[in-house]
Amino acid sequence: MTYRCPRCGSDRIATKGYARRAACAVGMIAGAVGGAAGATTGAELGAVAGLVAGPPGAVVGGVAGAIVGALFGGAAGGAAGAVLGEVVDENILDNFVCLSCEFSFGKTNSEVPAQEFYES
Ligand SMILES: [Zn+2]
Repeated sequence: MTYRCPRCGSDRIATKGYARRAACAVGMIAGAVGGAAGATTGAELGAVAGLVAGPPGAVVGGVAGAIVGALFGGAAGGAAGAVLGEVVDENILDNFVCLSCEFSFGKTNSEVPAQEFYES
């Protein structure tokens, strides 16, 4: 989708994505913490499975379970945060900035039909 600057009509538009980046980071941290907490189960399962291979297997299994849990949680949280932040960016913040005249505008403003700029 191409946006045009409501002020000068330029199509050199950049997205700021402030909320997206912030929410992604927050979501990733929250997800990693939640994932690590949930990974206790994963660590226990890993430890039990690792017991078959002896005590060193239990340690490796436990650590692997915790890491996998944190990674999955972090990735899921980050993805969820990014989606949420994108909604905030697009609907609440002035997410677009014109590279020609540095005018910031939001989604609603950018939905002005592009032809208007050529006709007037
Ligand atoms: Zn402009």
